[in-house]
Amino acid sequence: MLVLKKWNNLELHTKILIGLVLGVIVGVIFGEKTTAIEPIGQLFIRLIRMVIIPLVFSSLIVGAASVGDPKSLGRIGSKTIAFYLCTTAFAVIIGLILGNLIQPGVELNLDVGNVSMEAKEAPPLSQTLINIVPKNPIVALQQGNMLQIIVFALFIGVTISLIGDKGEPVLTFFDSFAEIMYKLTAIVMEFAPYGILALIASVVGSFGLAVLLPLLKVIIAIYLGCLIHWIITYGGAIKLFSNLSIRRFFKGIASAQIFAFSTCSSSGTLPVTTKCCRDNLGVSDKISSFVLPLGATINMDGTALYQGVCALFVAQVYGMELSLAQQLTVVLTATLASIGTAGVPSAGLIMLTLTLKSVGLPLEGVALIAGIDRILDMARTVTNITGDSAATVIVASSEGEIDLEIGNSKTANA
Ligand code: ASP
Repeated sequence: MLVLKKWNNLELHTKILIGLVLGVIVGVIFGEKTTAIEPIGQLFIRLIRMVIIPLVFSSLIVGAASVGDPKSLGRIGSKTIAFYLCTTAFAVIIGLILGNLIQPGVELNLDVGNVSMEAKEAPPLSQTLINIVPKNPIVALQQGNMLQIIVFALFIGVTISLIGDKGEPVLTFFDSFAEIMYKLTAIVMEFAPYGILALIASVVGSFGLAVLLPLLKVIIAIYLGCLIHWIITYGGAIKLFSNLSIRRFFKGIASAQIFAFSTCSSSGTLPVTTKCCRDNLGVSDKISSFVLPLGATINMDGTALYQGVCALFVAQVYGMELSLAQQLTVVLTATLASIGTAGVPSAGLIMLTLTLKSVGLPLEGVALIAGIDRILDMARTVTNITGDSAATVIVASSEGEIDLEIGNSKTANA
């Protein structure tokens, strides 16, 4: 009874952390048997996913309407995209540096078997640009096409602000609807410690150490790279361009990070990331509802970093040298490939074919990585959402849209 009372009094992010640690312990003890509790984790992911589309749609309309004129929207949009592109390129460079230093593929003799892979073809740029405008917004909503939903919501929001009083009832409706979705996220998050326990236990349970050992250096290079990227790129940017303390930043987004780590989906994490940035870091709805959905769709620093390390890994395994020019091609392709990566589990592995192809590396290299991809996906997804949150803080700071009383207060929690 006392334990239950103590448990109920804990802050949510502490409970989630305990869920994570217990998940690892249960996974180690029960091994493969843990798949039995996986449905609890799946149920939790579904509950959160249920909120994504309505939340993004309604909050983005309200956000765009409150930004008002298209000029400020353009300014905020340019800052956001500039930040996203620079940090992503930086992430690939960190990946390449670590790949060169750690040399994860040298002296490795792995059997690739008879797999034949096909490279993913990048669609032409013009088509990509045309595709972001929905032919039918209802279909875009139904299919969850995030970029099209963002574009449609932005148009509605801006138009509402242009027609003044007449748009008021619709704005009030979406404002109220967005608040309901925020509250719903908070309710679903109460279930997070148990869902995360189940998810982590089944991942740990189904991965024996034997699978991990031969590729341990790749795992180390990617986890270390992500950590360096958090500290240097995000930590540095937050220190330089905002008044939020780095400690508060990471504490504030801890729940979203653990969620991303367990689910490997940055789109799926979006409601949690939004909740953290809004409630714990004090970012206004206007900024968070624009920068975060865009980031969850196009900003994938972890994925880009992973592609940098993997390109060098595959080259080393096959005894090929990547010249400096080829490594620069990797920076460019991995940055673009990461933009096209969907925020769902394993999407980055498929996009890796694009990067490998750009420098003529054997696509079978993907098969080498596939066995441990889940472990790598966990780190890259956490990095992806951390990058989105850092961008949100920085853009909000530059626009005077962050409430530092909340962001730096000690009482804010998950
Ligand atoms: N799982 C990643 C994400 O959702 C994407 C990837 O596979 O790299 O952000």
